[in-house]
Amino acid sequence: MKHIYITRKIPNSGLKLLKEKGITYDMGENSLPPSKKKFLKKLKSKTYDGVITFLTDNVDQEVFDACPTAKVFANYAVGFNNIDLDEAKKRNILISNTPGTSATAVSEHTVAMILALTTRIVEGDEYVRQNKYKGWQPELFLGTDLKGKTIGLIGCGHIGTEVAKILHNGFQSNIIYSDIVHNEILEKMTNAKKRTTEEVLKESDVVSLHVPLLSSTKHLINKEALLSMKNTAFIINTSRGPVIDEKALVHALKNGIIKGAGLDVFEFEPKLTRGLNKLDNVILTPHIASSTVNCRNLMSIVTAKNIISAFEKGEVINNVIT
Ligand code: NAD
Repeated sequence: MKHIYITRKIPNSGLKLLKEKGITYDMGENSLPPSKKKFLKKLKSKTYDGVITFLTDNVDQEVFDACPTAKVFANYAVGFNNIDLDEAKKRNILISNTPGTSATAVSEHTVAMILALTTRIVEGDEYVRQNKYKGWQPELFLGTDLKGKTIGLIGCGHIGTEVAKILHNGFQSNIIYSDIVHNEILEKMTNAKKRTTEEVLKESDVVSLHVPLLSSTKHLINKEALLSMKNTAFIINTSRGPVIDEKALVHALKNGIIKGAGLDVFEFEPKLTRGLNKLDNVILTPHIASSTVNCRNLMSIVTAKNIISAFEKGEVINNVIT
């Protein structure tokens, strides 16, 4: 019988699949992630055959050492920048993620952020709540029409494609994108045009980031990138915080280099770079873009299926090690 450790609570949809296969588990709480010390202690306390981890768990050499019996680490996330893949490869440990599960939720959240910025909904809501609304004014919270604008997607896989479809079909937006691969399906569906990242930054009214966090994408959006954008443009980040140099972003937002930003992820998460929460032209959400019931259930099912596959076939369905 196989026994696994799940560092935080996951929905029953996946647990049910594990139980059906006779896989037993110890599971952490839903709230804050276990500290590294507690995580290591737990791993050393029993013999685990596998582990389900979250993006808040730093899975490195120490973790693998603490649990030499675990042959699979299934990450309950699309991203896997929290795992030392080189070390896993050396040790023949299987690593999986949950690709595609969050495309609907994250794309809808991304579009919600774009609309919140262009229509100034958050600022308006605060203004009314604070009893500042004294009557209609012709130029109160002037916004920006989205219809017909150019949307630039940097990284256009599962999530970027969904964002493009919503904005092309719903708002007649022009879609341009940069990616290391050609997305022919997207181009056919939305008439999207592939550009360089530099061109996307220069030409877009809204830039939305959907790349994984890699050494090649860390600080992809730096001071120079922000300076190359239109001063009327918005930037949205629902990918990973360190893709943007947050200090440079605060400077750009303060000094009118760009018009606004919507961030679901932060460079030093959960900490914010100084000044970010003081700005009116930024919308901040606490890494909840994929937090819908449907998405979490799907993630739970896909993670469980990866664990089961690792035990039954010696390979995971969604392998991330190249
Ligand atoms: P995906 O793998 O389907 O798409 C990523 C795309 O980025 C691919 O098309 C890839 O070719 C491209 N890419 C890789 N390196 C690039 C580079 N240097 N320049 C340009 N393009 C590059 O992933 P996805 O499902 O669309 O998710 C994207 C990212 O969103 C994930 O890696 C994850 O970090 C993040 N994410 C965040 C949340 C959230 O809750 N905010 C939820 C899910 C995913």
